[in-house]
Amino acid sequence: MIPATSGRIAECFFSIQGEGVTAGMPAVFVRLQGCSVGCQWCDTKYSWDPAGGREVSLGALVEEAAGFPCRRVVVTGGEPLESSLFPPLAAALKARRFTIEVETSGTLPPPPVPVDQWNVSVKLAASGVPETRRINPEAISAFLGLGAWWKFVVVDRRDVAEALVLAERFALPRERILLMPEGVRRDEILERSRWVIEECQRHGFRYSPRLHILLWGATRGV
Ligand code: SF4
Repeated sequence: MIPATSGRIAECFFSIQGEGVTAGMPAVFVRLQGCSVGCQWCDTKYSWDPAGGREVSLGALVEEAAGFPCRRVVVTGGEPLESSLFPPLAAALKARRFTIEVETSGTLPPPPVPVDQWNVSVKLAASGVPETRRINPEAISAFLGLGAWWKFVVVDRRDVAEALVLAERFALPRERILLMPEGVRRDEILERSRWVIEECQRHGFRYSPRLHILLWGATRGV
């Protein structure tokens, strides 16, 4: 297949990583357009339509990202692995010496691209997505082999129990699992964080904040 030389993005901006094991690190965000997973609590529904956002050439997008004073990039979505722009973008960013993190749902296997950190957020039943669409054993095995970090968005303690079952089923290393409270409001995140941290202590998981929600609320481009 001929690599894509253009594609659609929702946004490109400079902020800090708000979630996961690198939370707090300054990073450029490239949000690729398009996602067919359909989580009911998704806070970036504007990124779902593959025809939405804005059209960019690969070269212009890399220049835009490289224009920020930072060489860590988080490629996100949408589901970035659904975008034909993703593989050439990762290669082009690596050629510009970016450290690359990717946020993915783990519903598609990783292509052979130079990614430094895969952040795989396997969806639980509370996402409202049928299991056959949200759990892809082949993809999970491939991410395991790449040393991925596993992030579960949890609404209540039943979600933690479900994450434990998935961790057992796929032999996910507990020290690479993060629990992150679901919520798009500061008070929701803080309230849920208390019991999420208890569950992390109980099971040897890490806690993930949602710094961007705590700091800026449900605002785009921060
Ligand atoms: Fe939203 Fe991500 Fe779920 Fe897609 S996979 S619906 S972008 S949370």
